[in-house]
Amino acid sequence: MSIALPGSVRVRFAPSPTGYPHAGGARTALFNWLFARHHGGRFLLRIEDTDRERLVPDAEAYLMEALRWLGLEWDEGPDIGGPAGPYCQSERLERYHQRARELIARGRAYPCFCSRERLEQVRAARRAANLHPYGYDRHCRGLSEAERQERLARGEPHVIRFAIPLDGETSWDDAIRGRITYNHRELDDHVLIKSDGFPTYQFASVVDDHEMGITHVLRGEEWIPSTPRHLLEYQAFGWEPPRFAHLPVITEPGGKKLSKRLGARSILEYREQGYLPDALVNFLALLGWSPGGNREILSREEMIALFRIEDVVSHPATYDADKLDWISGIYLRKLTPSELVERALPFLERAGLVGSPPSAAERDLAARALPLVQDRMRRLAEAPELAEFFFRDPPEYDPAAVRKWLDRIEARAILTRLRDGLQGLDVWDATTTESVVRRTAEELGVPAAEVIHPTRVATTGRTIGPGLFETLAVLGKERTLARIDLALARFVPGKGTMVGGA
Ligand code: GLU
Repeated sequence: MSIALPGSVRVRFAPSPTGYPHAGGARTALFNWLFARHHGGRFLLRIEDTDRERLVPDAEAYLMEALRWLGLEWDEGPDIGGPAGPYCQSERLERYHQRARELIARGRAYPCFCSRERLEQVRAARRAANLHPYGYDRHCRGLSEAERQERLARGEPHVIRFAIPLDGETSWDDAIRGRITYNHRELDDHVLIKSDGFPTYQFASVVDDHEMGITHVLRGEEWIPSTPRHLLEYQAFGWEPPRFAHLPVITEPGGKKLSKRLGARSILEYREQGYLPDALVNFLALLGWSPGGNREILSREEMIALFRIEDVVSHPATYDADKLDWISGIYLRKLTPSELVERALPFLERAGLVGSPPSAAERDLAARALPLVQDRMRRLAEAPELAEFFFRDPPEYDPAAVRKWLDRIEARAILTRLRDGLQGLDVWDATTTESVVRRTAEELGVPAAEVIHPTRVATTGRTIGPGLFETLAVLGKERTLARIDLALARFVPGKGTMVGGA
């Protein structure tokens, strides 16, 4: 299946379905995607599912859903022509066996019959004696051909190992880190095919990268120690290796490993927390890459146009959670009112503030209320808390706010007079409600704030929120008056008749 297009860029994201992808994996996918799009090349998804013991059953489906949510669609799969499913290594076992036989025929691989117990002993002994390479002692590399054949014929369990050259070194020019060299003395003969017949990552990834015509391998720096092994396999096959670029590790501020709280969230958790995919993509792009000129907010098109692997740094990238929220807020503010409603309604639904599905009236209320809290939102998941008082009757009254603005004798005259003024309004909007509030203040000879604060607490239950007059306009006359009545009856000292509410 050689699908190499000479001269065209082909990259892959090659996750192992042994868990759910986090920020690091998504960043790797994104950089590959940006690189492919920048060069007009192809972006492949390859599921490296050869570690059968660590397989997580729904990880593959999760991975695909996460990539789709991020908008990082892959371009092809084995069934291209129909829906492009990813390449799956478990479906290509015969290829790896054939390739392993090729290496055996070239004298670059051999069967190894050593038991697990022996391998463990050898490993421990070599480490204790500081004998390089650590790991396997190449015992079976020395078996005679006759003995090999005999043991294979007997069906003895075995693995296939790669024969690392005993002398010399392997180097490559990493597109991010420059020249990297490994002495062969450090490398033991790694396994290519395991005893269960599955290939190892070290082998399958090389066979696939070659057969899928991969031109550039962009992956996390934790794979650097594997690269000399890969290069030696390319050399043993007589294949041209791809160009390697190892992306910097992502750490917490201060250099610590990413904790669960921060970047170790899996990608769809960001969706649940109400980040927009564009915002997350923008944030991830800046983890190790910078377009220069201190630019931090970039559209996908801009990122594609500007992305150069040379501009990726080699030092650790810091995961700054505040920056994510800042970027997220900027993207949320860019949404049109109807986009905002579509995105935020599911969060209101989940919080029980609207029905499931929401009624037409609830949609309408959301369309008028949500734009008022849009500026203060950093994540869609904050929408219920910020906009709750528009949906809940009566609103939840914050005791501190009540104590400060309603539990005082002056509030009675203020709210009663304001109520009368509001009741007389025929046209109910931000302008007319504002004029009543200001007129009330004038008539009572108090600053406007003395009316605004108790009115806000009476109608929303809190001291902080969107502009009061816009809020009243959205609440409408009936609900506003009912809430003022309720506040007067429940919280404001002094005599009064309760006109409505609880
Ligand atoms: N399967 C490896 C992983 O889980 C891929 C490493 C590579 O890109 O070569 O990250």
